[in-house]
Amino acid sequence: MYDYLIVGAGLYGSVFAQQKKEQGCRCLVIDRREQIAGNIYSENIEGIEVHRYGPHIFHTNKKKVWDYVNRFAEFNHFVYAPVACFKGELYNLPFNMNTFVRMWDIHTPKEAEEMIRRQVAEAGITEPLNLEEQAISLVGRDVYEKLIKGYTKKQWGRPCKELPAYIIKRLPVRLTFDNNYFNHPYQGIPKEGYTRMTERMLDGIEVRLGMDFLTQREALTELAERIVYTGPIDEYFDYRLGALEYRSLRFETEVLDMPNYQGVAGMNYTDEEVPFTRIIEHKHFTFGEGNAEKTVITREYSTTWKPGEEPYYPIGDAVNQTLYEKYRAIAAKETNVRFGGRLGTYRYMDMDQVIAQAMEDAQ
Ligand code: UDP
Repeated sequence: MYDYLIVGAGLYGSVFAQQKKEQGCRCLVIDRREQIAGNIYSENIEGIEVHRYGPHIFHTNKKKVWDYVNRFAEFNHFVYAPVACFKGELYNLPFNMNTFVRMWDIHTPKEAEEMIRRQVAEAGITEPLNLEEQAISLVGRDVYEKLIKGYTKKQWGRPCKELPAYIIKRLPVRLTFDNNYFNHPYQGIPKEGYTRMTERMLDGIEVRLGMDFLTQREALTELAERIVYTGPIDEYFDYRLGALEYRSLRFETEVLDMPNYQGVAGMNYTDEEVPFTRIIEHKHFTFGEGNAEKTVITREYSTTWKPGEEPYYPIGDAVNQTLYEKYRAIAAKETNVRFGGRLGTYRYMDMDQVIAQAMEDAQ
């Protein structure tokens, strides 16, 4: 009946379906949630578009991906420039001249460079072996202690010494006064929200919501020639080799009777004492549009994932990667099933990487 059954109406599933539809294939997209768009799902609360599963800022250096998303949404010119709060002290992120001036009361890039060099030398690190060593060798001990150590421990549930170095390499370090969190040339937020963007991708494609693939696997498999599975790869195989680990998130969203709570979309709380990692004030993604009197904020807590909860971040350590490779090996033997997306390929990916993967897989 269908060429493709696509399990998961998130970003990967929606792009894959859209591409296949364009090639003339018949697709059925299902999702166990009652809504499309996976974790980029956004909804309007009090006139403000709220990112329900964590803030999503679209950024890419891939022109092809940028041109692609612009077919389905008009993007605004939002640039992510979050602020860090450490015990009441505010610093600009990512780590740049604004951060260093505030941290050390210095004035020039040369002074910042010297300060970092001195702190790296004092730490005696030559080859960084973990996140702590990587962070100190990039920005020195002070920035590490105030802006990285506590945040990272809260985010990943373990000390920086026990985390892989690559996590922190995501963040830019600059000796210029530039608070743009991302280095990419294309950035923005869809003016009508991510859910609307996904709706447009799925336009003309049959979508069934509230439908769980795993509990009716046989009947659903009959419906299509091929399956694209974007759920957790270990769950697909009934955890037969053991469960992969994730970090989960808990959100507390509140409508406040004030026009402007924190003056910025993202405020990271980098000390360990504050239990949440950040507060998102959603209206700032669209320059305060939508409601002049009220604002919506979300406190984000990072938690250990347990079965039954939403998996967010795959864990990049050796134990989990080895287990994933084993799942990948059995997945490769499944006939007519492709695994895709963050959960299907157990990878910490940004939206543009997910889209690029889906576009490539659909070729
Ligand atoms: N990070 C940090 N302090 C911050 C922000 C980020 O130490 O204020 C570190 C932390 O280890 C985090 C990593 O940088 O896991 C990547 O941060 P990013 O903002 O890219 O994470 P995401 O937005 O994907 O959760």
